[in-house]
Amino acid sequence: MTGASAPFVASTLSFEDALNRLKEIVGPAGVREGAEDTLPFRVGFGGAFRGEAALVLRPASTAQVAQVVATCAQARIPMVPQGGNTGLAGGAQPDNSGRAVIIALDRMRRVRAVDAANDTLTVEAGATLLEVQQAAQAVDRLFPLSLASEGSCRIGGNLATNAGGTQVLRYGTMRALTLGIEAVLPDGRVFDALRALRKDTAGYDMKQVFVGSEGTLGIITAAVLRLFPRPRAVETAMAGIGDVTAAIRLLCLARARLGDGLSAFELMRAPSVEFAVAAVPGLSSPFAGRHAWYLLIEASGQAEGDGLRQALEGLLEAGLEEGLVEDAVVAASGDQRRRLWALREAQAEAQKHAGRGVKHDISVPVSAIPEFIARADAALQRAFPGILPFTFGHVGDGNLHYNPVVPRDWSEATRVARQGEINRVVHDVVVTLGGSISAEHGLGQLRVAEAEHYKSAVELDLMRAVKAALDPLGLMNPGKVLRART
Ligand SMILES: Cc1cc2nc3c(=O)[nH]c(=O)nc-3n(C[C@H](O)[C@H](O)[C@H](O)COP(=O)(O)OP(=O)(O)OC[C@H]3O[C@@H](n4cnc5c(N)ncnc54)[C@H](O)[C@@H]3O)c2cc1C
Repeated sequence: MTGASAPFVASTLSFEDALNRLKEIVGPAGVREGAEDTLPFRVGFGGAFRGEAALVLRPASTAQVAQVVATCAQARIPMVPQGGNTGLAGGAQPDNSGRAVIIALDRMRRVRAVDAANDTLTVEAGATLLEVQQAAQAVDRLFPLSLASEGSCRIGGNLATNAGGTQVLRYGTMRALTLGIEAVLPDGRVFDALRALRKDTAGYDMKQVFVGSEGTLGIITAAVLRLFPRPRAVETAMAGIGDVTAAIRLLCLARARLGDGLSAFELMRAPSVEFAVAAVPGLSSPFAGRHAWYLLIEASGQAEGDGLRQALEGLLEAGLEEGLVEDAVVAASGDQRRRLWALREAQAEAQKHAGRGVKHDISVPVSAIPEFIARADAALQRAFPGILPFTFGHVGDGNLHYNPVVPRDWSEATRVARQGEINRVVHDVVVTLGGSISAEHGLGQLRVAEAEHYKSAVELDLMRAVKAALDPLGLMNPGKVLRART
């Protein structure tokens, strides 16, 4: 630890004096104030969450973040860390009190070091995911995290949510992609664990406490990320299938035939593909006929030549012979590949077009996916006749975005009033099957009550103990992940 301060003594620093000091620390370029200027930071992606903020602070260095946090701690000002503001669980929005400050990392986007021989890149938390991918590409390496929001989301946000995306099957989530972290603790001290090591058993792995903590334990300011060889060959296919059991059987076949080469295995349901085609001009299904489900399958590897393509075609032929696949296409060009991915990436847009949805970001063991779909679909139809299934996601990881669209005659007020009932039906099935109610988007403020409902008292106690040890004043992103005990 470096940069110690003494924030936990009672302070005479008034709210107004603290705000003035905060503005001095970051300078005019680092401050946004007033309802209009702060709006883009106060309102989350899609407008579902919004809050009030005394100021938006945009520090330019770790030292400034540390001073900002120490000042907030001294004046007891709640802090809400923010990256690209693409989170879907309201984690980066303050409450409505107007007392909190938003600390946005968007000015801290420097690549501090690239070590190609060690396959690592050290980068500040405000760099966008796309910038990190490009920095890796510049040294002929791959940073494999890939999300539809990659042009806007930032590395600090990816770490704080333990982001997943489409390449987890092969490379893991952000947790697996990170070797080191630098973070400012809730009292203003800097935790410097920017170690670029693959092996390190010298004590608890404290960096992992910050991954997935959604800004509740400190502010991540930089990270050492793992890089990988850039695949020389990428082959992409889409398959139309009749049911989800076939998807899981095909996944097993794909693992056996492609091994580590299998990098994406994404599932979409017929309505979600049809709404995507209707919502986004230029999109089309690659098939003449309709299929109940669609799989986007991608393989990548180092070997040049046709080997990978033949392996993928062989997989699809085997799937056809075994009756798992109804129809399939393999992209013949980069353009065709982009068109297949465009269907998957348009799912958020398609969801809006389909009507009012209730979103779930669930995971179950991959083997339990068919049972999850069957039980959740049936339970929802029983409880809410006319509800439309809308499902897509990373089925290879057991992670689905299971977002049923409520009946057309429900008003928005009815949807809001009844979404808790819908959540309960879906999450009961998830938990019965040994799953999680949040696979990659985090709990934010959206799922705090659900987490309290489903997590054991022991797990909640452990989480509260960690929170109390690191943030005894409860100032770091209050109301997210965990609620204070009343
Ligand atoms: C179209 C679309 C597609 C998406 N697809 C995926 C997907 O496939 N997989 C996936 O995992 N997510 C996905 N997301 C969700 C979102 O993009 C990710 O959660 C992303 O990691 C959030 O990064 P961000 O920088 O936008 O974080 P923000 O939204 O700014 O913040 C998210 C959380 O992290 C905290 N935080 C942010 N920065 C820091 C920091 N420096 N230190 C500490 N805490 C911090 C915030 O307080 C908040 O709790 C998608 C979102 C959209 C809009």
